[in-house]
Amino acid sequence: MNGTVMRMIDLRGKRLTRAQMLEAMPRAEMGTDEASDAVRPILEDVKARGAAALRDFEEKFDHIRPVHLRVPVEAMYSALEELDPEIRAAIEESVRRIRKVCISQVPENFYTDLAKGARVSQRWIPVERVGLYVPGGKAVYPTSVIMNTVPAQVAGVSSLAIATPPSADNDGLPNKTILATCAVLGVDEVYAVGGAQAIAMFAYGANGSEPQDGKVLCEPVDKITGPGNIFVATAKSMVSGIVGIDAVAGPTEIAILADKTANPDWVAADLIGQAEHDELAGSVLITDSEELARNVQKSLDCRVPRTMSHERVSTSLAGRQSGIILTDDLEQSVDAANAYAAEHLEIQVENPDEVVPQIKNAGAIFCGQYSPVPLGDYMSGSNHVLPTGGTARFASGLGVHTFMKPVEVIEYDEQGLKAIASKINTFAVSESLPAHGESVLSRFVDDPYDKATL
Ligand code: NAD
Repeated sequence: MNGTVMRMIDLRGKRLTRAQMLEAMPRAEMGTDEASDAVRPILEDVKARGAAALRDFEEKFDHIRPVHLRVPVEAMYSALEELDPEIRAAIEESVRRIRKVCISQVPENFYTDLAKGARVSQRWIPVERVGLYVPGGKAVYPTSVIMNTVPAQVAGVSSLAIATPPSADNDGLPNKTILATCAVLGVDEVYAVGGAQAIAMFAYGANGSEPQDGKVLCEPVDKITGPGNIFVATAKSMVSGIVGIDAVAGPTEIAILADKTANPDWVAADLIGQAEHDELAGSVLITDSEELARNVQKSLDCRVPRTMSHERVSTSLAGRQSGIILTDDLEQSVDAANAYAAEHLEIQVENPDEVVPQIKNAGAIFCGQYSPVPLGDYMSGSNHVLPTGGTARFASGLGVHTFMKPVEVIEYDEQGLKAIASKINTFAVSESLPAHGESVLSRFVDDPYDKATL
């Protein structure tokens, strides 16, 4: 026995209210107050001092003072030349697959004719300039370059910048595999800046080199996307409103909805795979089979000590954010899965296709035993930047839609407007906004103030 015991949350025989069900779900403590206190001065300093502040924060948090805050394009192409051909082939396969899915995601413009001379249409317009955050503190995530960039490119975003922490192993430039992936995708605006300071740079823009020479280092963006640690997530939520953001991502998580037909070793392997990300990662099994729960626990006992990051995995699996939820039946398992609203939901039951339509809340659904989460992490063609911490109840993962805005176009002609002019006026008067009505009526009567002419 290695002592990694997942806690049991036994829902059997309980009829919980919605609030009680949400409360019963295993969740990490976020510690956002402390993070806000740390992030606020970073945002203010970058806003005030631009590049000089960025260099200072990189030195403080990433222990290197980057010479080039903006990565020279030659560095990206030389990283591509040095890239291991097998890694390049994997990157290219991943890009090919996600690009294909993204092309299918592009939303269609449409119009609706409501009457003669009365048309409303909807146009999807790409966000003009986006800032994509690629994490790089504890691990290297070239796939995050792909998952952020490809949907933005397919959406038609015309100006796209990436920020990722500098690396001491690459003389203060970001990791070489990250740079090579940028080169594969044709991204040439890349900053060796991480954490909250990168988010500040994107939100406010930043002036040039040290001492300030009046040149612009980075222009502000319209929207920031991408995953990151607590400081990145907190900074994103603090600048939200000044710029758009995707969902605020917390620690990653998996829920596996399984019945007695699931393979306990595969379930255990998938729980461990998620726990490998982070001590705070959540790994949750939801099952109506006590026997499966027992066998998964047995399999964990044998697998956890053999995995490379066994201490991190063990901490994550034993943490309050992880657990095994025991249910009465499949119906209650589905209720629990919907309450938990996992970032990644695996369905390993006898008939997964019958369960999928019952799922209301999940970042992404991995259907059946041969669709494990790492497939989606790297190259299923789906996006791996997904809502965490239960936010899948109202938010979705990254996709082409993230980088586009639907804008309605209203086209009424004289006949179309005249037909409803007096009804509009009735609304306007009832809201004590008569000038609204007069704006419409003035197009049809000489004196809209003269009720007799209506
Ligand atoms: P990161 O790039 O998010 O954070 C590193 C930065 O944090 C550093 O550059 C530094 O500036 C800042 N920082 C570190 N300590 C600080 C402090 N005390 N005060 C202020 N700033 C500080 O990289 P990370 O830390 O490795 O975290 C990456 C996260 O992203 C992980 O939680 C991982 O699971 C997650 N992730 C999620 C996805 C997804 O799609 N959901 C994909 C990849 C990674």
